[in-house]
Amino acid sequence: MSRYDSKIVIIGGGIMGVSTAYFLAKRGQKDIILLERDLLAQASTGLCVGGIRQQFSHPANILLSQETIGLLRHFEREFHAKIDFHQAGYLFLTREQSTWEAFCECVKIQRRYGVPVEVLSPEEVKRRWPYLEIKGLKGGIFGPEDGYVDPYDVTMAIANKTRKLGIRILEKTEVTDIHLENNQVKGVATSRGPIFSRIIVNAAGAWGGEIAKMAGVELPIQPFRRQVFITKAFDAIPRPLPMIIDQDTQFYIRGYAPGILMGMTDLDELPSFHTHVDRSFMERVTAAALERVPVLEKAEMLRGWGGLYAMTPDENPIIGEIPGIKGFFCATGFSGHGFQHGPAVGRILSELILHGKTNFNLSPFSYDRFNKCQKTTELITV
Ligand SMILES: Cc1cc2nc3c(=O)[nH]c(=O)nc-3n(C[C@H](O)[C@H](O)[C@H](O)COP(=O)(O)OP(=O)(O)OC[C@H]3O[C@@H](n4cnc5c(N)ncnc54)[C@H](O)[C@@H]3O)c2cc1C
Repeated sequence: MSRYDSKIVIIGGGIMGVSTAYFLAKRGQKDIILLERDLLAQASTGLCVGGIRQQFSHPANILLSQETIGLLRHFEREFHAKIDFHQAGYLFLTREQSTWEAFCECVKIQRRYGVPVEVLSPEEVKRRWPYLEIKGLKGGIFGPEDGYVDPYDVTMAIANKTRKLGIRILEKTEVTDIHLENNQVKGVATSRGPIFSRIIVNAAGAWGGEIAKMAGVELPIQPFRRQVFITKAFDAIPRPLPMIIDQDTQFYIRGYAPGILMGMTDLDELPSFHTHVDRSFMERVTAAALERVPVLEKAEMLRGWGGLYAMTPDENPIIGEIPGIKGFFCATGFSGHGFQHGPAVGRILSELILHGKTNFNLSPFSYDRFNKCQKTTELITV
């Protein structure tokens, strides 16, 4: 590769990198190179479950989801691509009194931000979704506007429009180092040669910590494997099937036409970059499934896959320019809710990079918060 110069280099071709490139281009900044060491949307973004919910405890997360839902509603008009955004809802369930009380507190916050969310008795849960086992449940909270979408379709549609706007996207190009001079970024070394640039965006997802190390920065991000399984065609559960989450076991299901998708957080998982499927864990997921959705006994597993969460200590991301390293911007550490926040963060980051400010209060997501004991942990996680 001959030597490149570029105003802005974006590292990572998942939802975060692609959305940031798109909004920069839309605002007229076309001198951008996006670098992806594999192909676009093959890492966490393409492997994720595509869930989009406004049911968060932290207002900043609610606002990010609301912005993305707004974009998805007029997606076809903006990106000339059809996506199946299933606003089938998100239903959270619990048997624990303390979790139920926390849910009800979160509902108050969500309603303050205009989120339509219903508090349901166990009987009402059973009436609406008769296939659910409700024994011992305290109740459910249901967000009818929430839902899911194919994350690959969304990301590739944004990438295609970004390319049409003139942005260079280089796949199979790995960043191997970041060059600094007097605490200002100067460029990157890549598997295809150097690129000189005074603005670098770290959108490398679970590898965000590795990229930051190249700039001499420690980010508190750890990769954790998450596994997902799908069944063969299964019509014993009527559609639309919401995203249903058993908060106590962290088990969830949703429709994945013509089958059912299910997953669970493995609380014994240690940080690593492994993504292989573990058969014994599949058995634990199946057991949790049968407990909450007994009719799944008749379903047959088709396959599973693993992907990575980029976890931070408070389960919120790090967004913005890293203090002391001029031109080094990060959007990483999304802790399992980055797909739905990608488009909104892309818009926010594009403003920050081009104008030095944004209308979104990024302080809950600042790099500095980990030194200042200002953390507000997101309570509703899966
Ligand atoms: C099983 C699972 C289920 C999930 N479900 C949901 C969900 O329902 N809703 C939701 O909102 N989120 C969900 N997530 C989280 C979501 O997938 C992530 O938060 C989001 O995709 C992060 O996007 P990203 O662009 O930051 O990272 P990624 O999509 O991982 O993209 C980062 C890219 O950087 C590239 N890269 C890394 N290092 C380099 C380098 N040195 N040089 C060049 N390129 C590099 C990688 O190859 C990768 O393509 C889920 C995640 C998993 C694993």
